[in-house]
Amino acid sequence: MLDEKTEVGGSCGARRSTLASEAGNGFVAPAAGSRLAAEAAVDHARMLNGRYGDLPAAALVGVMLRQVFRGRIALVSSFGTESAVLLDLVAQVDPATPILFLDTGRLFEKTLRYRDAVAERLGLTDIRVLRPDAWSLDAEDPRGELWRADADRCCQLRKVLPLTRGLARFDAWITGRKRFQGGERRRLATIEAGAGSRIKINPLASWTPTEIATYFADRNLPRHGLEADGYRSIGCIPCTDPVNAWEGARAGRWRHSHKTECGIHGRSSDVDGGGC
Ligand code: SF4
Repeated sequence: MLDEKTEVGGSCGARRSTLASEAGNGFVAPAAGSRLAAEAAVDHARMLNGRYGDLPAAALVGVMLRQVFRGRIALVSSFGTESAVLLDLVAQVDPATPILFLDTGRLFEKTLRYRDAVAERLGLTDIRVLRPDAWSLDAEDPRGELWRADADRCCQLRKVLPLTRGLARFDAWITGRKRFQGGERRRLATIEAGAGSRIKINPLASWTPTEIATYFADRNLPRHGLEADGYRSIGCIPCTDPVNAWEGARAGRWRHSHKTECGIHGRSSDVDGGGC
């Protein structure tokens, strides 16, 4: 069942360098992929968190984009109901920042339209659309029904693997996760180490729903077209429901299963971060 726009294939490109080039902290990165690299990334993240973790979101975004990871960092965005806040913060620093967007082939048409509207409004010039590998979909999900039988594998094919490829050329990425979203996100650090020895920056980690709403109003940011229909966290069509007023924002994601994350945030994936 492919009831809305379905596209596959494609990837992105950007310059890859090493953590060692971070300005001024003397960090020297071990070989990528090694256990030593993973341990070094944890130490690096801890150091960065101590130095920058208490900065306000706008200042943190600025120092990460302009100094610490200049030219080596991307924002991963789902263009969901709250995404415009972080996109706006990034656009104010550099609208040419690479924005990685996962088009799973199962997204709402309104999400695609919202992506284009926000990009135009904020002047974003480098949105990179990451899509699943066509051969893998043909082999494992030819009818687009894999989500029914094995949602984890479906997310692996449609989200985790494309994002792994998309992030290969970056040393750090920015995510929009917040602690108030609950689950494992309650313990979210502002700066943390991810799989693949990449550093993840979570500038909105401590933000509240009120702060998000205030920012939208102050900056007159556009709203996602599904929000008025009760959707507060938006992913793929088959796995996203609207929520009731008394429910958490993510209660409508994989509502009828125990699954709570798509895998790009999970410990088991090669990539764990934002945009889910
Ligand atoms: S959210 Fe659902 S449809 Fe989308 S990739 Fe995951 S299991 Fe598949």
